[in-house]
Amino acid sequence: MKNQQSNSRRTFLRNLGTGASALSLPLLGYADNQFVQNETSGLYSLLTNPNGEPLGQPGRKLGIALVGLGYYSKNLLAPALQETKNCRLAGIVTGTPAKAEEWMKKYNIPKENVYDYKTFDRIADNKDIDVIYVVLPNSMHEEYVVRAAQAGKHVICEKPMAITPKACQNMIDACKKANKQLAIGYRLHYEPFTKEVMRLGQEKVFGPIKFVEASDGFRIGDPTQWRMKKAMAGGGPLMDVGIYAVQGARYVTGEEPISVTAQFSPKTEPEKFKEVEETMFWQFQFPSGAVSNSTTSYTAGVERLYASCEKGWFELSPAFGYGPLKGRTSKGPIEQPVVNHQAMHMDGVCNDLLAGKKLPDHVTGGEGKRDVTLLQAIYQAAETGKKINLRA
Ligand code: NDP
Repeated sequence: MKNQQSNSRRTFLRNLGTGASALSLPLLGYADNQFVQNETSGLYSLLTNPNGEPLGQPGRKLGIALVGLGYYSKNLLAPALQETKNCRLAGIVTGTPAKAEEWMKKYNIPKENVYDYKTFDRIADNKDIDVIYVVLPNSMHEEYVVRAAQAGKHVICEKPMAITPKACQNMIDACKKANKQLAIGYRLHYEPFTKEVMRLGQEKVFGPIKFVEASDGFRIGDPTQWRMKKAMAGGGPLMDVGIYAVQGARYVTGEEPISVTAQFSPKTEPEKFKEVEETMFWQFQFPSGAVSNSTTSYTAGVERLYASCEKGWFELSPAFGYGPLKGRTSKGPIEQPVVNHQAMHMDGVCNDLLAGKKLPDHVTGGEGKRDVTLLQAIYQAAETGKKINLRA
């Protein structure tokens, strides 16, 4: 994976007792930023909003509708949308009427921009809403991304993109068919410390990487939440935060793993972890010879991305939370600006949408599907005890 980009969430969940710089774009016809490539036909068409007005006008903000007003929407995305320059909170989709009332008042959202899961498809007729941001439990991502695309909107979908690669493909296909773009909630790809370690690794600033340690875990509380239900979450900590460790190993090496081995830890709280793993470990091998080792857990906190290279090392710790992230290298501290991850992410995505640019591959559905495919391979390796070959 070339050039990419919760502590507070984890603290919140704990307290509850309960989660490269942008690629230069090779596309043509961006002189006035009004064209987007139709991935199916390969043709370029004028990118317009539902009013038929061309996008990319200075000062215009895209309207975002958040779907699912849970922890991440309420505490991170909605506040971030008060700071964004390229987008604004225009609508909400919720199954909880009391939340609808509260959000309408708090964020001055007109009633006609409020939907529930049954009325959701009517969003197709709403000219205020350009982008639908799906922030639901993992197993619901597929349905709502497909419906959002069918409603003719661009989509941002939270991680993990879905619980199976097939579901990811359906989402990609639906967006392609609708000629709409699909971004994944990979906020770190827009975060300066993360972009710096991508650069250090991918440009081999300390020489070739020999090994990577990438781990993310926290202590989860409430055993009744959807994260503990396999059908809704797709698995345990691997699906929830282990995905960050998978991403980390991929974005510092800039490579795709060629094999994986994995192990489940014994369960220390079997009553609590009836459906999903409690802690697990995995090892990737990369084409250059680099290897990585990772841990993810719902029992113990860990949050670290470390790369040992031929001529030094670099690390982020914390590495995956909402920040501030902190980094060091064998030559000294990593200095980068501290930013609001969610605002940077949504502004970054919307900047490209407004400009009519194709989103960089590393933040799109293709990247989401690559990660979900790897998550499935990690489970397969742990279940079979065998080394899984990942070469296509
Ligand atoms: P929450 O459980 O806090 O919220 C999920 C919301 O989804 C609910 O509040 C509810 O909203 C709606 N919902 C609809 N149907 C159901 C259902 N059957 N069961 C539970 N909720 C339902 O989850 P989070 O906000 O923590 O996570 C949502 C998504 O965001 C997940 O995919 C997660 O992985 C991702 N996430 C990403 C983070 C990041 O840093 N990128 C951080 C945290 C989460 P309503 O009442 O409005 O209908």
